Amino acid sequence: MPRNNDLERKALQLILEAGDEGILQSDMWKTLGVTSREGSRLALKFEEKGVVERRKVLHGGRWTYKLFSQTKPVTIDSIKDCPCIICEELDKCFSGGQLSPLHCQFLTAWIDPNTDYPQIDLEVEPET
Ligand code: SF4
Repeated sequence: MPRNNDLERKALQLILEAGDEGILQSDMWKTLGVTSREGSRLALKFEEKGVVERRKVLHGGRWTYKLFSQTKPVTIDSIKDCPCIICEELDKCFSGGQLSPLHCQFLTAWIDPNTDYPQIDLEVEPET
């Protein structure tokens, strides 16, 4: 059902773009041009899948729902401190290789700072 998939994609995009402010359920269905019943069904479906949180809010003297995305857009900031970016062993590092991300203490420490592995300082030296 391409129409439904397209509608779901647009709805999720709207909710994602609303960020921490969230979007009123009614604003979502108005923007999408669907009925309140269709909009509610979509919101419930997203909530069941765990991709959207529905919070009951008082708006204009009436109780309604605001929708909040449970996922965040991926940005370059999310990997800017990854040790692999400046690792000199990158070309030797792959699954089954001399080195492997599966056993790298630096990568593990970056992913989970609570591990016992040492943290590394990734200050990039300026080129001379
Ligand atoms: S996983 Fe470890 S060894 Fe492999 S590229 Fe990243 S930092 Fe380097």
